[in-house]
Amino acid sequence: MAVTTEALNDDSALLAGLFDTPGCAIFLDFDGTLVDLAATPDGVRLEAGVAEALALLSRRHGGALAIISGRPVAQIDAMLAPLVLPVAGVHGVERRGADGRLRLAPTPDVTPVLARAQALAALHPGLLVEQKRGAVALHYRLAPELQALCVEEMTAAVQACPGILLLHGKMVLEAKPAATDKGGAIAAFMTEAPFAGRRAVFAGDDTTDEAGFAFVEQTGGQGVKVGSGASAASLRLASPAALRVVLLHAAVLAASTQTQGVADDDSL
Ligand SMILES: [Mg+2]
Repeated sequence: MAVTTEALNDDSALLAGLFDTPGCAIFLDFDGTLVDLAATPDGVRLEAGVAEALALLSRRHGGALAIISGRPVAQIDAMLAPLVLPVAGVHGVERRGADGRLRLAPTPDVTPVLARAQALAALHPGLLVEQKRGAVALHYRLAPELQALCVEEMTAAVQACPGILLLHGKMVLEAKPAATDKGGAIAAFMTEAPFAGRRAVFAGDDTTDEAGFAFVEQTGGQGVKVGSGASAASLRLASPAALRVVLLHAAVLAASTQTQGVADDDSL
């Protein structure tokens, strides 16, 4: 893939080196960050070479590369198969560490929110409801004219459920546990091997990623905002395509380093 002038009109060059720097721990959101957004959650596609780049970078950093997503862990596994990575799913409600063990956060009852979202979707076929562990997502990408109605309904539904928070994402509203977020998920990974003691870099694109950016920036790492909009992240990439270019370049650097027999772990 050619690197265009436009692609470099952000922090691409800096990041390719950063992702290859020894002592780095890499955290990546999935939708809108690694893959382009699609009309429906099932419609996204992982581009050729991305899983291979992630595998190389994971090896480069002793396994310190994790996906931090709003999707369930099982969906991320299916998208990346046969690659298996540490994953935080449903914004940290589910978290599988590098040891392969799945940790589940306690979740408030979201049944009333689910019922209200499903009732709304039954009236409007363009709406899509996703039921997750302790969370409910209402997608209106296929019916953007219904945004105000969706916000009104989901806000009312969440207000009746203590411990549940409403996230306003890109064409999606998600009711999720207030006590769990991507910042907490990254923080938990950073207490465990092989992440502990490393410098965290987290790339994400949406409002749900801001908690992750805040955590990594406050702990000596760096956030990478993919796309436009205000952010706590100190670095910026124009698009998921720009991030993929960076990851492929960093993987090439990592592959050449590994060929020379220089292991990241040796430097720690
Ligand atoms: Mg995203």
